[in-house]
Amino acid sequence: MEISRVNSKEKIGYLKVIVGAMFAGKTTFLINEFNSIKTCRPCLLFKPELDTRYSQKEIVSHNQEKVKAFVIRNISDIESHLLSHNFKDIFIDELHFFSPDSYVYLEELAKRGIKVVASGLDWNHFQEKPFETTANCLIIADYPVKLFAKCDYKAEDNIITDRICNNKATRTMWQPKWLPKNKEDYVGGKDKYISVCRDHYVPFFELTKMPERYEKKEAKKTGVVNCLYNHFKNTPKKLKFVCDWDEVIQPLEPKVYYELSEREGAYYDAPWWKPNGTKFEEFFRDFWPNAPIYFSDYGSHSIYTDESMVKSCLNEGNSFALGTRSIKNKTNKIKSEPNFYENSPFLTLAKELLKLIKENKAEVIFLSAYDKRVFADGDPRKKKIFSETFGKFPNCSLNLLGFDSEGKGQSKSEWIKENVPDCEVVIDDNPNILNSVIENNEKIIPVAPFYPTIKHHKKVLLIKTSLSDLKKEDFHHE
Ligand SMILES: [Zn+2]
Repeated sequence: MEISRVNSKEKIGYLKVIVGAMFAGKTTFLINEFNSIKTCRPCLLFKPELDTRYSQKEIVSHNQEKVKAFVIRNISDIESHLLSHNFKDIFIDELHFFSPDSYVYLEELAKRGIKVVASGLDWNHFQEKPFETTANCLIIADYPVKLFAKCDYKAEDNIITDRICNNKATRTMWQPKWLPKNKEDYVGGKDKYISVCRDHYVPFFELTKMPERYEKKEAKKTGVVNCLYNHFKNTPKKLKFVCDWDEVIQPLEPKVYYELSEREGAYYDAPWWKPNGTKFEEFFRDFWPNAPIYFSDYGSHSIYTDESMVKSCLNEGNSFALGTRSIKNKTNKIKSEPNFYENSPFLTLAKELLKLIKENKAEVIFLSAYDKRVFADGDPRKKKIFSETFGKFPNCSLNLLGFDSEGKGQSKSEWIKENVPDCEVVIDDNPNILNSVIENNEKIIPVAPFYPTIKHHKKVLLIKTSLSDLKKEDFHHE
């Protein structure tokens, strides 16, 4: 035995790593350890530069306990603090924000006889894998500590008891309805995150399917329905529908911006902007929770402007000089391309409507407004696509309603009142039109595709829609 060669009590350093989900008490644990050592000998506390959550120079636990900390950018910045003082105990918070090779330096510190206590998140919700830095450190830790939070998931269907799950929470997930855009957005506490158990954990990429996520919450308030077909299939008699085309049968606004993004690359800064090669399905999904849409009594269009979309890269020496109105000009050009509708997919609403038509449960008048300044006699592309699809059925017709430069013309609700007084269902994405339809005839069932940014009258039945696999070949009699 050669123990006498080493004075183990004096010299042996170690690495203690505390991991867990948010709200598991990691920082409280760290602060308690720090306070207990502090009374015996001086020690140092460090935190990464990124975490500005509660305080720049203090570490604050979720229950508001505060301790002074040194803010560092890299883990090796600790060295300069050690050189000037003879500290033997160091504490590190938010370990996961440091680079994955941080374990090398911490290992070295432990070998030099320094006692290191570090805490960090173990699961990266946004990348759906462990934080490499924390994982690496945990592997080499002399004292690995895993803490657990309580699952904060509240069963939405259990209104009476408001029961919170309370199981052992191992992961943290994002809460806001908006998607984080930059590093700073990710930093947050209970305002942005919830810790949950395995059963209640939802990967971030699934949370980004915002319409589905909204649906649960909105369903209680507004009654979002999953399927138009299921809702109307048991009708005792054939129903008379008046149905809009753009955003109900085929997408217009998201398709225009998708085309723009595919052609221009990532020059713009909008929450739904995607890199080239993104599938339209994904683009469509992320477009609707963010799209600012303007509604006139005739139609609807997005109101993205150059200012709202030109990316900050313009200030970083990039010379994509975009003149004012360039986005409007570009999107208008895309909208008026001859093959625009040919190249747009059909929405699931169209597929469900077709099913009702084929089963003789619906008669549909498609009513679509057009700008007389652009088309003298209605949009020929829409006439063509109609004749190749719904136009094959005797129960369907198309009416194009022109408005002129002042936005004057007969509005859809006036047209319906005059021409289809026995209309039973109106499907439109424009809340103004549905509002006046409701005013004109309280018996009509107003229906809108569910797009999170569009707020409708509480009477409106919202139907979930997304891109479908419906093809022109599917429009034939059986
Ligand atoms: Zn749970």
